[in-house]
Amino acid sequence: MTFCQVTDKVSVPQVFLKGGCDKVLIVMRYATSSSVDVFHLVTESEDTTLCGIKVAPIIINRPARSSTLYLTEKVEIGQRLCDECTAVETETREKDS
Ligand SMILES: [Zn+2]
Repeated sequence: MTFCQVTDKVSVPQVFLKGGCDKVLIVMRYATSSSVDVFHLVTESEDTTLCGIKVAPIIINRPARSSTLYLTEKVEIGQRLCDECTAVETETREKDS
């Protein structure tokens, strides 16, 4: 069992792609819901995703039955990062550097 700790939002999909991690420990919050296998990056205030969807102000670190997006600190392998959020994040990064 290999635990991989991720502290960088953008490296998450790369960690998944590289494999070798049975469990990924993520020390920041994402938004997800049980009805989709996609997770989103959240804005600093954590009330919306980077792609503009409203997030419930609750943190659930286990699978939950909810069609509304909620915050989580755990991302399951098999979930993938929202394409729109990735695009926004990448754009922000390029602006900063
Ligand atoms: Zn998104």
